[in-house]
Amino acid sequence: MDPTLAPIAEKCRAGQRLDAADGLTLLRTRDIWTLGRLADAVRRRMHGNVAYYNINRHLNYTNVCALSCKFCSFYRKQGQSGAYFHRPDEIAAQARAAQDAGATEIHIVGGLHPFEPFTYYTNMLAAIRQAAPKLHIKAFTAVEIVHLARISKRPRDIEGVLRDLQAAGLGSLPGGGAEVFDDRVHDEAFKGKIRSDKWLEVHETAHRLGLMTNATILYGHIESFEDRIAHLIMLREAQDRALAADLPARFQTVIPLPFIPDDSELESLYGPTGLDDLKMLAVCRLMLDNFAHVKAFWIMQTLPLSQITLDFGVDDIDGTVVWYDITKIEGRDTHQEVTVADLRRVIAEAGYQPVERDTLYRRVIRDRADWCIEQSTAPVAAV
Ligand code: SF4
Repeated sequence: MDPTLAPIAEKCRAGQRLDAADGLTLLRTRDIWTLGRLADAVRRRMHGNVAYYNINRHLNYTNVCALSCKFCSFYRKQGQSGAYFHRPDEIAAQARAAQDAGATEIHIVGGLHPFEPFTYYTNMLAAIRQAAPKLHIKAFTAVEIVHLARISKRPRDIEGVLRDLQAAGLGSLPGGGAEVFDDRVHDEAFKGKIRSDKWLEVHETAHRLGLMTNATILYGHIESFEDRIAHLIMLREAQDRALAADLPARFQTVIPLPFIPDDSELESLYGPTGLDDLKMLAVCRLMLDNFAHVKAFWIMQTLPLSQITLDFGVDDIDGTVVWYDITKIEGRDTHQEVTVADLRRVIAEAGYQPVERDTLYRRVIRDRADWCIEQSTAPVAAV
């Protein structure tokens, strides 16, 4: 065992909170197995032998974007080759197909379209609500919410914008757009995007309105280990505030996202390795002691590595996905799907009990495409 990990192991055993120096030691260690065991002990304390998955469908409504983040290979400018845009009725038809296939959730994010009005977004939600009333709509990153506030001419009224979206059918917010909460990294890699204060304000406002949200960190590009740990501590402090204020909602899950350099302006970088992925997921589990869940997004980490992450602090693998335009696994188009049988197989083979959940981490009882929530199961609380 790496001797620098001994005092951290002691803190973990005693259930004490880790500080920034501990986080850095964990990221720097080469003792991946001890790190994994520490994260696994916390994960088992919270979730036992259960590993969650969900049946969902991702939908990226447009890749037309007013910004040009350097790490992004998804965006196109209006009229540029490859630019696309889906109308609300097309989106509703896809939502209906997802509901008919048994999905419990539709996960919607897209570029910051420079010309569509605010009503495009409320019409989209209302059309989905009508076509697929059983689907939970998880939609719009904090970056998109701020964009919607601007185009609705209410740049300071995040709460009003979220209320309008909620009334149209929004059920929760995804965690994207956080990238890395550091001004140097922001200015170099995603200038023009909102900074950490705004991202956190959107999520805290959502929590006050009863909208559950998730959080992400995009790692493995130009950020330092110090930046990663500072980001996690800012998330932890925001969750502390939500819990201390007894808000009706909070962060549910952290989703660490490895940077994928291909076709981006930063493609000269290597991106994170498999070991970095395992470390980052384990460190998230250990640092974010007030987050209930750590999720591996197999589109980014790959399904084979996601299976191994279950021993490194991860308790959730998202999801059946089906379509995903933002990043592509080599050799695949935007149809990126795993079957429920595949998800259950990789979870069971790793020694865990596969449990289907809905967006709010309630257990799902399923009969093919038909499903309901197991009433006796409440979502898992944070430690
Ligand atoms: S990361 Fe998001 S905001 Fe930035 S260019 Fe890509 S789509 Fe636009």
